[in-house]
Amino acid sequence: MTAYSSNRFPSEIGQNGWLKISNSQYSAPFLDRDIICDWLVIGSGFAGISAAKRLTELRSGDKIILIDAIGIGEGAAGQNSGFMIDVPHNINAKGDYLSSIKKDKDTISLHREAIEFSSQMVEEYDIPQNVYNKIGKLNGAATPKGISFNKDYKKQLEALGEDYESLDSKQLSDITGSNYYEQGIYTPGTILIQPAEYIKRIVERLSDKIKVFQNSPIKKIEKKRNTWEARTSNGKIITKNIIFAVNGHITNFGFYKNQLIHIFTYSSLSRKFDNSILKGDPSWGLTSSNPIGTTVRKIKVSEKQSRLLIRNTWRCRQNLVSLNSDFENSCKKHRKSFIERFPNLHDIPFEFSWGGRVCLSLNGAPAFGELDENLFSACCSNGLGTVKGTLAGKFIIDKACKSNSSQLDKYENIEKPSLLPTNFLTQIGANLRIKSREMTAGRDL
Ligand SMILES: Cc1cc2nc3c(=O)[nH]c(=O)nc-3n(C[C@H](O)[C@H](O)[C@H](O)COP(=O)(O)OP(=O)(O)OC[C@H]3O[C@@H](n4cnc5c(N)ncnc54)[C@H](O)[C@@H]3O)c2cc1C
Repeated sequence: MTAYSSNRFPSEIGQNGWLKISNSQYSAPFLDRDIICDWLVIGSGFAGISAAKRLTELRSGDKIILIDAIGIGEGAAGQNSGFMIDVPHNINAKGDYLSSIKKDKDTISLHREAIEFSSQMVEEYDIPQNVYNKIGKLNGAATPKGISFNKDYKKQLEALGEDYESLDSKQLSDITGSNYYEQGIYTPGTILIQPAEYIKRIVERLSDKIKVFQNSPIKKIEKKRNTWEARTSNGKIITKNIIFAVNGHITNFGFYKNQLIHIFTYSSLSRKFDNSILKGDPSWGLTSSNPIGTTVRKIKVSEKQSRLLIRNTWRCRQNLVSLNSDFENSCKKHRKSFIERFPNLHDIPFEFSWGGRVCLSLNGAPAFGELDENLFSACCSNGLGTVKGTLAGKFIIDKACKSNSSQLDKYENIEKPSLLPTNFLTQIGANLRIKSREMTAGRDL
């Protein structure tokens, strides 16, 4: 009899500011009984909600369950910086931006398909603009190295025929209120989301059509003739199909062994401050032109008040457990990056700091496909899960329901995650690479 078990489950690191400031009160019950359904979606991040939504479209008469190990919006999907990016600033992850135009065009068209799918959900479910805002993003450079990254990015954008605007330090200062950046590129297609609220509001509306359970980690799945049984501590779900939308946690069940890299990254959110202290646009999002650099967002709280979010630091932990020292060091870095960029806000403390998991593969490929009969994976979103998770969730249902399209073919033609050395060596190699990049990032960090 086929069975897959997990004895490692997600846990919180610090306090997720997005959840704390969210206006959504939604929460789901935990699974406390045995229940039968047609489709079980495990994981309520971008991939899980997108899979559940697609199922309501393609299999509206079927019984669908969405389940999560922790609270809805508490996972990485509710912890991220909220950049839903159409044109990635490290296209093909080579860092020089000058890679194959055809491949980049395919990537961008897939990202735009994900954004279109999420936009439709947003419209259907009346998600407000402060939760899902098509405002574009800045790519800021504070060092000569950062400027050279942006120069390559610009060449690539031109070759791709993408819209962009070059910004000098004065223009960046007018937008951000900070004199820190020397040069920037603005691209218009990025959506800035309030991630925890986005997830909670969508799941709340989905729960009109499907059953949702939270705080119910799946510990074991077992094949019984032509159904699957998925067990939590307090109940079991008997289902015809299972969709794993658990990102890196898929390795806990024994899949994709030595193929996935588990990285933690961390954020801090400032206390509210008065807009008179920081001039500039009411809300904006800036990623660093150097892929290892610091992300910053200004969040409008009211006409009079705002908050700032800082994200930086990457650490590879192949056992999916973040070290306290990683978290503490990242908080110190957040403070330094914050004060350097916004010296007149030095009295404003951080109210919340937290960390979360990102899953990568060496070749940037998703962990996507059928793992066993009627057991599917939409995992490994390579750090851009707002779009890649959304896409994988939609496509895995298209695949399972045999709703073919040229975009699905394109997606399925992406390679499989390549093999890595042992976890021990992967962790050492990844952390050495991260640290050397951090050391040479200078003021971009
Ligand atoms: C601080 C931070 C900043 C980031 N910024 C960005 C950004 O700006 N833009 C971007 O695109 N990406 C960003 N990311 C990455 C992004 O958050 C992830 O790529 C994305 O959340 C992945 O989506 P997902 O649905 O694949 O997986 P997840 O969001 O990780 O969802 C998986 C879910 O599965 C659940 N689960 C796991 N195991 C089990 C189990 N056994 N039983 C039941 N449920 C289980 C988990 O609790 C979790 O809720 C960031 C990540 C972090 C941590």
